[in-house]
Parts: sequence; structure tokens; C-alpha cells
Amino acid sequence: MASHIVGYPRMGPKRELKFALESFWDGKSSAEDLKKVAADLRSSIWKQMAGAGIKYIPSNTFSYYDQVLDTTAMLGAVPPRYGWNGGEIGFETYFSMARGNASVPAMEMTKWFDTNYHFIVPELGPDVKFSYASHKAVDEYKEAKALGVDTVPILIGPVSYLLLSKPAKGVEKTFPLLSLLGKILPIYKEVISELKGAGASWIQFDEPTLVMDLDSHKLKAFTDAYTELESSLSGLNVLVETYFADVPAEAYKALTSLKGVTGYGFDFVRGSNTLDLIKGKFPKGKYLFAGVVDGRNIWANDLAASLGTLQALEGIVGKEKLVVSTSTSLLHTAVDLVNETKLDKEIKSWLAFAAQKVLEVNALAKALSGHKDEAFFSANAAALASRKSSPRVTNEDVQKAAAALKGSDHRRATNVSTRLDAQQKKLNLPILPTTTIGSFPQTIELRRVRREYKAKKISEDEYVKAIKEEINKVVKLQEELDIDVLVHGEPERNDMVEYFGEQLSGFAFTVNGWVQSYGSRCVKPPIIYGDVSRPNPMTVFWSSTAQSMTARPMKGMLTGPVTILNWSFVRNDQPRFETCYQIALAIKDEVEDLEKAGINVIQIDEAALREGLPLRKSEQAFYLDWAVHSFRITNCGVNDTTQIHTHMCYSNFNDIIHSIIDMDADVITIENSRSDEKLLSVFREGVKYGAGIGPGVYDIHSPRIPSTEEIADRINKMLAVLETNILWVNPDCGLKTRKYAEVKPALKNMVAAAKLLRTQL
Ligand code: GLN
Ligand code: ZN
Repeated sequence: MASHIVGYPRMGPKRELKFALESFWDGKSSAEDLKKVAADLRSSIWKQMAGAGIKYIPSNTFSYYDQVLDTTAMLGAVPPRYGWNGGEIGFETYFSMARGNASVPAMEMTKWFDTNYHFIVPELGPDVKFSYASHKAVDEYKEAKALGVDTVPILIGPVSYLLLSKPAKGVEKTFPLLSLLGKILPIYKEVISELKGAGASWIQFDEPTLVMDLDSHKLKAFTDAYTELESSLSGLNVLVETYFADVPAEAYKALTSLKGVTGYGFDFVRGSNTLDLIKGKFPKGKYLFAGVVDGRNIWANDLAASLGTLQALEGIVGKEKLVVSTSTSLLHTAVDLVNETKLDKEIKSWLAFAAQKVLEVNALAKALSGHKDEAFFSANAAALASRKSSPRVTNEDVQKAAAALKGSDHRRATNVSTRLDAQQKKLNLPILPTTTIGSFPQTIELRRVRREYKAKKISEDEYVKAIKEEINKVVKLQEELDIDVLVHGEPERNDMVEYFGEQLSGFAFTVNGWVQSYGSRCVKPPIIYGDVSRPNPMTVFWSSTAQSMTARPMKGMLTGPVTILNWSFVRNDQPRFETCYQIALAIKDEVEDLEKAGINVIQIDEAALREGLPLRKSEQAFYLDWAVHSFRITNCGVNDTTQIHTHMCYSNFNDIIHSIIDMDADVITIENSRSDEKLLSVFREGVKYGAGIGPGVYDIHSPRIPSTEEIADRINKMLAVLETNILWVNPDCGLKTRKYAEVKPALKNMVAAAKLLRTQL
């Protein structure tokens, strides 16, 4: 029985690649140094998988930045502005596309399906001259072979590549990207032929877009592409790999009808329908790569359950044709549990990171072939049993409270316009009130204070004193700038989710559980392992301290339940919505404590609400329903006079605007300035918005300082589609990544613009 891994993390167990990249970019080390670190990482991964007994080991799963950008390089599809003159693409052109250079900005980056990984979006048009310009796939195959490991080289499939692209600048938005198939397939053929020449016996095409809602035209392109490649693929075993969901019935039919394909990879974890599809029909004589080990989470696999599934599959596809695999690339999970020296022992026994998942895949394959490692299986069963019965997982009060929520709507009793009137009486704000999103610059000094407090190098008193001083500075600055609704600046927070996770029960934290977000950037999501509750108030001390420093309204600042959920590794032993409701109840307690402490404006950030949206339309309404419900739970109990704000770092939510309205916040601030006013078009098209709204008036991602005129101009555009009395004036997002030298003049101009317009209205 065979085993396969869809893909593997590149960063290294201790983010070795990150540090090597950043040192190279800073000019502190050479290209050779970087290449050496990369080669060592690849070699150790291949050897680790070979040592574990994996039969189909991936190559070309490594990347210096991103696998989609690697494909762009392979195809020579470099946008002309990078001045590339042909030949093999080197670091200079490659990293310019990824990160920009002194004269040209980077290519656009966007989220890879519903993960937190971001890829570089190819820019294509009729004039792109494709050429075979990066031999990376072949080089990596040869490199592994030289180390004695025969690998399965991975390419992003041609159809997914085109469907993930966007029309280049100056090319019409309606440009049919799929019309470029005929131009890129000849290059795929060259790569295939070289791989064959180098001795490859398998090749893997990743075609994850097959799990999306594709129309028949797109499906046909898919059939056409693989039909066109058929003759060049002959003599090779071909795996078409899908992941992130099950493949819809029509696409499944198209996929399994392809000739020239030897095997199919399917996601059995998120793909709730995958098993039924296979039971319905699976082409005779083809290999099934069954992704039963979750590539997107950190939980140990339920080996007994997986074995049951695999045995059922064996009955359908035959013993010889079943391959045990991961549900997705392991890119989306943490790297190696071995380095978690600080994690509680019991919790640790419940987990499996990428390195451990490789062992699980292999153990399942061995068990299927009659060589079950009894000790491995019984250790796994014991870990699962301990997780199931552990008192630290279950909190009956929380379970009861969450269960009692069902069937109820949780809405504030009065409608939003009545509430806004009541709030205005109390707050007495000018029209076009100004505010910021929460964080102020996180200086090196501030980070040092937090680090030293955590390491117990400074006392609690010293820490509190330092943070208070910082808050006071931020408050005074905002008063000087004459901002209307103030924030405390979030100096006590390292991260908007971790800060809350650390104070809630049911959360655990890793030391090295990093997951690549983009390029060299990684995130370390908390692990939600148990029922969530809030033992103590989390922000009341800091918010009331800040409020005591000013007569102006001070916004309490919380992270919302959906965002905490979406930016964590979530337990898999209950539905996501149940975990979300539990977090919502904990945040509700905090909201009410803030209100009691005299905080009249409370912002509950839902930066990540949009990103949890399921890939398939059929599942979106259900998600939006419980996500929006969770948000409302947090604040349904406050007085009319308490103003609830929310914030989103996403402008692209025209399709979910009705859900946003249904959140029933009093004020929403939203990222807006980078989106060509896409956001405003919703209102132009007639959607009525009665609550307060603050579309960001300037981009905080850039160091550029916007002028007063420019901001006033933006506000005027908003006033053309939104009522004057609901409009707020604020930046796009928090200011923590900026410097004071940028923040001060930018906010000064923002306030000046608001004041200027007030005189004109
Ligand atoms: N309140 C947070 C901040 O200002 C919001 C961050 C975010 O939306 N990502 O930093
Ligand atoms: Zn934001």
C-alpha cells in the first residue's frame, strides 16, 4: 500500500528560510548563502519523508516566495515593467515581481482560496510572450534524485493557473484568460518532456480550482487542456490533485473522464461529499490518492476512523490502486511538534504538525497492507481518548450556555436610528466625526517592554507604569490633533488574537507553530482545544485607565469572535459555529464589563469575517448566518446609549453587504482607499445603509502622507453616495506598522479635511 504527501512547508522547523531570505534582501548575505539554506531544507525534507517510508514524495513544493509566482517564472510571464530581457529568470527579476524594487511596485497578492496563504497574482494579456524561463521544477527533481530520492514533481495545473490570473494593466477586465491555454501548454510540454528525460515516472498537477463553482465553459477548458497534453504525457503517470473541498458533481464527471490521467487526489477532510462521489462511480484501473490526513489543522488524525474509510475505499478502487495521502499540501499547518518544548504534555499528545502527519500517512498505508504498527495505533487511540475525556476540554457551563443560544436571534431591542440618536445625545459629536482604528505605532521600545515583562525581567509595576505612559502619550497626541473619538493605542497587545487567546481558557500557544502567510511572513495561530470561557475581564483595566485620562469618548477595543476563530487553529471535535458561539459569549461578558466601567463606545473588530466565507456558494449563507449571529451575541445586551463599532480590513464585500448590515453595528469602519472605490459602488447602486460608516480615507499600508486636499476629495466622493449624518472620517486600518513621523502629519491632514468639509456642509 502506497503513501503520498501533497506538498510540504518550506520555511523550515525554525523559520530558517525566512531568516535566510530577509538577510539576503537586506544585503547581509549572498545569493549563494540563500541557495545553500534552501538546498539544505529541501534535502532534509526529502530524507525525512524517504526515511518515514513515503512512496510518492513531492518535489517543486519548495519555493523562495510562492508557487504561483514560480509558475509565472516557468512560463516567462513577467510583466514588462520589470524589464526582464529573456533567459533564465534569476533572483533579481523574481524578487522584484514578489516585492517590488526601487522603481517598480510588486505584483498584486491575494489569498489562496480560503487559507491564510497569499499568492502573487499573474497578470496576463494577449501580448504576453510566454517562454520556458525557469527550470526549477526539473532542477529540483534532479537535485532530489542525486540525493537518492525519486520524487513526484508538482506543477500548478494550466487551468488553475489561468483561472487564478487577472488581466494585465491596460487589458480589458473581460479578457478571456482561458484563451491563453494554447500559448502556455507548449511550455508545459517542454517541462514534461524534460522531466521525463530526467527520469521522472510520475507528475502531479495541482488543480484546486476544480473544487470551485465552475461553469461548463471552464470545465471544458479543463478537458481540452488535458486532452492537448495527453500525447506528451504518455509514458508518465499523471496525478491530478484537488483540495480544499470536494469536487462538485459536474467537475467530478469531467475530471474522472480524462484520458491520459493515472490518478486523482481528493480531499476527504473538508470534502464532505468526496466519499459519496467515489462510491457513486470511480473509473476502473485508476489510482485514488485519498487525502484523509488533514493538511490544514494541527490535530492528530483519528487513525482508526481513517483506516475504516480507507478500507471502504479499497473495496471500490482495489488494493493496488489506493494511495494514502494528505487532504491538502501541509503548507497550511505548522512544521514540527518536536520543537514545542513549552507545550503542555497532554495537549501535545493530541497534536500532529507536518512532520507528524507524514508519519501518520505512512502508518495508515502500512496498516492497510497488513503491517499495522500496533504501538503507533494504540498511542494514537490513547491520545484521542484522553482528548475526549479531558476535563480541560469540556466545561459544562459553557456547553449549556452555548446550547441555550440556539433558536434565538439576539438583536438589540431598538433600531439603529433610534440608538444613534440616543448615543448622539450622550456623545455630542460633530458631523463627520473623526476616529482611528485602534493601534498606534508599535515602537522598538514598546516591544522591548512587553518582551521583558513576559520574560519576568521587569516587574508588573514597572510594566504597568510604562504602558500607562505610552497610553497617556497617545491620548495627548489625539487631543492635540483634535480627534473626536479616541483610542488607547493597544500598546499592551502583541497581536489582536493572541492577546485575547492568552486570557481566555481553552486556548494553547506554540513556540514554533509558524505557518507561511506570504513570502517570508509567517503567523503563529493559537490552538483552540477546549470550551472557551473568560475567567477575568481582559481589557477593562486598560480601557478605563485610558478613559480616565481624557474627557473625550475613549473606544473600548475588542477582537470579535469570528476573527478570533478564523485566525486560530480550531478544534475539530465540534462544529466551527459552536466554538464561535462560545467565544461570542466570552466577548459578550467583556463588552458588558466595559459598559459598566463607563466606556460608552466599544469597537469589536471583525477583520477576518470575510475570509472565513466558504469557497462554494451553497455553503455561504449558513456561514454568514452564524458568523453574523455570533457578532450580534456579543453586544445584544448593551444600552441604547452604548455605541458599538466594528471594523473590517476588507473592502471587497459587495457580495455580503446584506450580512454586514445584519450585524447591526452602530458604526462600521472599513478599509476602502486601495479598492478604487469599489466599496462605494454598492451604495451608488442603491443599497441603503442607515448606520454610521467610516470608509477609510487613506491607506495605512504605505508610508506616504496623504494631503488635506486629497482626503477632502475622498470624503466628498463618499458624501455623494452616503448621508452626511452617518459618515465617519478615519484611516483604513490600525497604525501599528507605521512610524510616528508618518502618523502625525497624516492624521493632522485627516482632521483638517474633516473640519474643512464641516464648514462647507
Ligand atoms: N484594532 C486593530 C488595530 O488597529 C485592528 C487591526 C485589524 O483590523 N487588522 O490594530
Ligand atoms: Zn483593519
